Amino acid sequence: MVQKDKVNMQDYIRYTEMAKTLGMVNAILIKPDDIFFDIRAVLKCRWGCEDFNKQTIKCGTRNVSFEEGIRMIKSYKDILMLHAHDVTDLSRAIIEIERAAFLDGFYFAFGIRYCRLCKHCAVDEGKDCPTPQKIRPCDESLGIDIYKTARNKGLPCNVLKDKDDVQNRYGFVLID
Ligand code: SF4
Repeated sequence: MVQKDKVNMQDYIRYTEMAKTLGMVNAILIKPDDIFFDIRAVLKCRWGCEDFNKQTIKCGTRNVSFEEGIRMIKSYKDILMLHAHDVTDLSRAIIEIERAAFLDGFYFAFGIRYCRLCKHCAVDEGKDCPTPQKIRPCDESLGIDIYKTARNKGLPCNVLKDKDDVQNRYGFVLID
């Protein structure tokens, strides 16, 4: 495998076309400085999210501190930010584009998004995950302020007040 060190226009076009095919509303190439971090996101993760308390395989810190998470993300140069209305579509697109980027030679390609790969999560039902290698970290657990990050790019991100509100969900593929 040849290691690439920069996403070129052809890569970008291919990944964004893949994203559209996979049902994404938007896919934009961003830089690490476009991602805003706030330690209050970690506070909301550890105490504001019912999933964290369950300490399942898909939801935990894996001993990555707030500072380490920032260092990890800032070690990348090019990041694809995905926007979807459906959480499962988003999880699937992230894993597929991550894999495509890896096969293109970006061997550190890595997704960030709370796992919703399956419509019915086995872990949520107290069973083993059939594909634990596909679980990726949640943006909030890494201290990402997703509201500020999306809005800064002109993308919608609001607190949902009703279960019928249109969902705007975001995730990232760290590419190189
Ligand atoms: S069962 Fe599916 S949704 Fe649940 S953690 Fe595993 S891959 Fe993710």
